[in-house]
Amino acid sequence: MKGKVIIFSAPSGAGKTTIVHHLLKVFPQLEFSVSACSRPKRKDETNGVDYYFMSVEEFKKKIANNEFAEYEEVYKDNFYGTLKSEIERIWKKGKHIIFDMDVMGGLNLRLQFGDNALAIFVMPPSIQHLEMRLKSRETETPESIARRIGKAEQELKKANLFDKIILNDNLETALKEAEALVSEFLK
Ligand code: 5GP
Repeated sequence: MKGKVIIFSAPSGAGKTTIVHHLLKVFPQLEFSVSACSRPKRKDETNGVDYYFMSVEEFKKKIANNEFAEYEEVYKDNFYGTLKSEIERIWKKGKHIIFDMDVMGGLNLRLQFGDNALAIFVMPPSIQHLEMRLKSRETETPESIARRIGKAEQELKKANLFDKIILNDNLETALKEAEALVSEFLK
């Protein structure tokens, strides 16, 4: 069985994870695709729930074995990727997949899945706003914040390549908009 796929992409700090978590509560027919990654686990994260955490060596071995549907070295030595086995696992359960990933990964998957996919870009109100959010999260070093902001500026230029854009200047409105788009797509 092949289900549908919904891809949420945005610069880091734009609020896409909050939106994705909300949709998972509203739509029981969706399941979150847990990505593999090689960055260190944050305090509030659980292995196998937020990510499959692994070493850079382990990640590279899986690249060599062709185990990824897509992967990227998002920051130096911070690899992130979608395991083919994760997609199969979710489809086998008869569920549709929801992805939370960076912009290049999102566009890559969008191409692979064609009409079976809905790709949504979450637009932050401004770069200043992103910086504020990343600082208040208290999970990033100043270097990591600067890196993420630099990347965000590039990512904003790709927004128009997505099927839909949700402006996240008001969370309640953004959640409602996301619900409506997903509901229509799953019909
Ligand atoms: P974070 O370190 O904040 O959890 O994630 C950093 C970036 O990597 C985010 O933009 C996140 O969406 C992205 N990311 C997470 N999983 C994947 C994945 O499987 N593939 C790709 N290409 N990017 C991902």
